[in-house]
Amino acid sequence: MTNTHTTEPLPAGLYIVATPIGNLGDITLRATNVLARCDGIACEDTRVTGKLMKHLGLSKPLWRYDDHAGERDRARLIESMQTRAVALVSDAGTPLVSDPGYRLVNDCREAGVPITTLPGACAVIAGLTVSGLPNDRFLFGGFLPVKEKARADILAEFGRINSTLVFYETGPRLTKSLRTISNVLGVREIAVARELTKLHEECRRGTADSLIAYYEAHQPKGEIVLLIGPPETDEEDHDLDTLLREALLADKPSQAAGKVAKATGADRKALYARALELRAE
Ligand code: SAM
Repeated sequence: MTNTHTTEPLPAGLYIVATPIGNLGDITLRATNVLARCDGIACEDTRVTGKLMKHLGLSKPLWRYDDHAGERDRARLIESMQTRAVALVSDAGTPLVSDPGYRLVNDCREAGVPITTLPGACAVIAGLTVSGLPNDRFLFGGFLPVKEKARADILAEFGRINSTLVFYETGPRLTKSLRTISNVLGVREIAVARELTKLHEECRRGTADSLIAYYEAHQPKGEIVLLIGPPETDEEDHDLDTLLREALLADKPSQAAGKVAKATGADRKALYARALELRAE
């Protein structure tokens, strides 16, 4: 555990440090302390991290690092962690979350380098909390694919899952993604969380179609978290129950399940189990 108050040098190893996603006030005490005490910082863009360090009144060696770095460069960085405390930061938010660091952390683990994580701002969580969409279960899908077919395939696959879906998005691609959502998933409750923690922060809710209409009239700028509410399973279950009940008037549970499965595309086994329950009622 890192002590927030001490100024002693840090034990050697890797420190994964989350930084703000907009508002610099969101840097944590512990992150500031580690950035002040580390021997150097591996970062995506030295100019971006340089600005943060300036804001904090700190100066440390900055080493450019991303997951495209060669094996040798990574090995050298890991070797240096035998004797030095190296902080890993990304341009904004939590490293590794749609950002570099996965390979480095994995290789550090294999090399037995001590790893410490310093949690903090993360756009997925900020978007989820402000959206008001169900958050008991959520699935983060990173950035939606740029190509229409790949995007539709991912949405069809994830769309069946009973959880809120969270994606990273950019302004220029937002309406295209909303259109694919409308085509593939139909009517769902959507949230567009934009410029979180910044001056022009907004979170707009609606169906894909209503949001397309809005954002065609108001060009979306800045950074976006796109959230899709879960399917309305209660209503569907209710409809399936009605169909099963009707079928059970004339058929055995297995036949009733078969007929409803054919008509709706719902899972036959689950329908059979439900048909048995309904008959027992
Ligand atoms: N590692 C970062 C994190 O923890 O959130 C995410 C890095 S990813 C390369 C950048 C994307 O995160 C942006 O394109 C946007 O979708 C989302 N993002 C980052 N900051 C944001 C903000 N302030 N408001 C909304 N979305 C943001």
